[in-house]
Amino acid sequence: MARNKKPKEAEEQQEGDNNGLSIHWEKEANEHQKQYKYMLERGNFNKMLKALPELHDAAFAKIDCLKCANCCKNHSPRFKQPDIKRIAKSLNMKEGDLVENYLMLDKEGDYVSRTKPCPFLAEDNTCNIYDDRPSDCARYPYTDEDVLIKRVQLTLKNATVCPITFTVLEALLVDNGGKKQ
Ligand code: SF4
Ligand code: SF4
Repeated sequence: MARNKKPKEAEEQQEGDNNGLSIHWEKEANEHQKQYKYMLERGNFNKMLKALPELHDAAFAKIDCLKCANCCKNHSPRFKQPDIKRIAKSLNMKEGDLVENYLMLDKEGDYVSRTKPCPFLAEDNTCNIYDDRPSDCARYPYTDEDVLIKRVQLTLKNATVCPITFTVLEALLVDNGGKKQ
């Protein structure tokens, strides 16, 4: 999820800086969907859960969200009521104005961003409301939570969008005998 640290060099992105990953990682993520699904549904839950913190930290150490921002560009978090309250306060806006200007209700009845990319994503891929961002943003991509294992469809989708999710799933595959190193 977008950070509020040093800015990304735009040229780097244009030249295809890929966070040290294969430029084909998205293709691989699509090709490995069945393996991921089988592992998440049939693998040893406790073993995978135990491995997550280390794999999560290693993936975040390797991949710079500021060179990516795929999540902020392509998906909206849910803006729950406490998020709306907190963000409106930080922007010195009325909650109603925040909703009117930036949000809409989705099919599930949750407030989501009206636009993609997220209106709070800055040009340098930092988040303009980072300290007050929605809790969904703070938790994304759930690679240190049991959500990764339990919400299989969400994880499969995230693997094709988020290089951190892809990296963690690939390492889990190796750990669980689904892939040779
Ligand atoms: S998609 Fe994943 S790697 Fe990219 S910015 Fe979001 S959390 Fe970071
Ligand atoms: S609020 Fe928008 S820009 Fe900020 S982290 Fe969430 S999705 Fe990204």
